[in-house]
Amino acid sequence: MVRLTKKQRARLRGTQVAYVPQSAAAAFNPAITILDQVIEVTSIHKLMPADPARARAIELFRALSLPNPETIGSRYPHQVSGGQLQRLAAAMALISDPKLVIFDEPTTALDVTTQIEVLRAFKAVMRKSHIGGVYVSHDLAVVAQIADRIVVLKGGEVQEVGTTDDILHNAQHPYTRQLLAAFTPKPRAIAQPSDDPHKPLLEIENLIAGYGDRLPDGLPMVQVVKSVSLTVEKGRNLGIIGESGSGKSTLARSIAGILPSASGHIIFNGRELGRSDRERTRDQLREIQIVFQSADTALNPAKSIEDILGRPLTFYHVLKGKACQDRINTLLDMVHLPRALRHRRPSELSGGQKQRVNFARALAADPKLILCDEITSALDTVVAAAIIDLLKELQRELGLSYIFISHDLSVVEAICDEIVVMYGGKKVEQITPDRLKEPQHPYSKLLFSSVPKLDPTWLDTLSQDPELLNTYCHR
Ligand code: ADP
Ligand code: MG
Repeated sequence: MVRLTKKQRARLRGTQVAYVPQSAAAAFNPAITILDQVIEVTSIHKLMPADPARARAIELFRALSLPNPETIGSRYPHQVSGGQLQRLAAAMALISDPKLVIFDEPTTALDVTTQIEVLRAFKAVMRKSHIGGVYVSHDLAVVAQIADRIVVLKGGEVQEVGTTDDILHNAQHPYTRQLLAAFTPKPRAIAQPSDDPHKPLLEIENLIAGYGDRLPDGLPMVQVVKSVSLTVEKGRNLGIIGESGSGKSTLARSIAGILPSASGHIIFNGRELGRSDRERTRDQLREIQIVFQSADTALNPAKSIEDILGRPLTFYHVLKGKACQDRINTLLDMVHLPRALRHRRPSELSGGQKQRVNFARALAADPKLILCDEITSALDTVVAAAIIDLLKELQRELGLSYIFISHDLSVVEAICDEIVVMYGGKKVEQITPDRLKEPQHPYSKLLFSSVPKLDPTWLDTLSQDPELLNTYCHR
């Protein structure tokens, strides 16, 4: 392959070797209907006339369990769901009857409930067609469902190769073991005051928040958070879990005051907070900090790390000169970053390092509560586990509380004392991690059972109530 000329390679591409990208949305042209794009490769490479190509595409849509296989192709990409588009991208790859398909994290952007159906469809098609596949993922449990052999890659080098069974049960390389360990729930060693009953730090009552103009009744045009009530106790952590679009970030933004809530109460340390950040005192702002998912967009690329950390120190604590410099060093120590990094810019740091800076900036304010909104979602498993360990360590030292928002149950489980499940802007369940096996609400049941397990038979033996899937899963 490496020695082939560009022209020879182009002949292989799309016909012998096909590719399913991570983001199908980015791979489809929004202005052309789906079927025309799926069959395009057959006309470019003159593989077959248009009519049989269309028939073959519809056959593939059916094999991939897409709804209305006859007509779905006449839609535009924005008219199908994310899970459907991902399967349509697979149809595009398979139409030319390739010998090898490369799947590049094709389910990473999907909710766990949708992921199951996409994985099942891929697995069934691959089995039936005897095509070879390379399935690239950061999620070992997902790979375990679909692969016969697994290659563990780190820093551009192969660390270990083995059958799926060997990698899962007989891993030799320390990095593979680290990956596996990230799946083993660790004992949760959060010190809890044994005497006085837990005092509430944050109480939220019937919070309503959303976007767009206010209607005559004072409620926003698009109601996203629909009357949510919850409590966070001092020194304890609350997890919020739910599918994408369920209103988790909107809730976090309204707690922080970035997005003014429309109605309801936010009580912090016994005092009612103003709806928007403008109606809150500087101390109230200081005590609740928020850390966002993407450190790339949260950190100003033009500033050095020391500028980024210095800003909240000056704003909240009026620190200047040497006092400020010393505090920056302490903050870097706290998040286990070398002090020398202070002169770099965000682009000169790794993803994990950036997220540590992001976190240090929240710590600079000296908060009591940190809202962590999907802070590990962009990181790989091992780096994410290290960030969780850091959060726990800082909690023991500083007595902080976290609201930890994620779509990933295993992460929330590792750090939270209590877990709230959100669906469609409502809190449908509040549960402790030790009771995850017995959720009360049907949606939580569906959600919890959809998290991939390391067991390679998990996907094939999983049975979920079709009625639940119909009600709660947006296919
Ligand atoms: P989550 O964090 O759970 O994925 P979000 O709170 O980000 O969900 O979004 C919930 C809903 O609110 C989604 O339907 C989203 O499209 C909508 N939404 C989010 N931000 C805005 C905005 N700025 N304007 C209008 N609608 C928005
Ligand atoms: Mg979000």
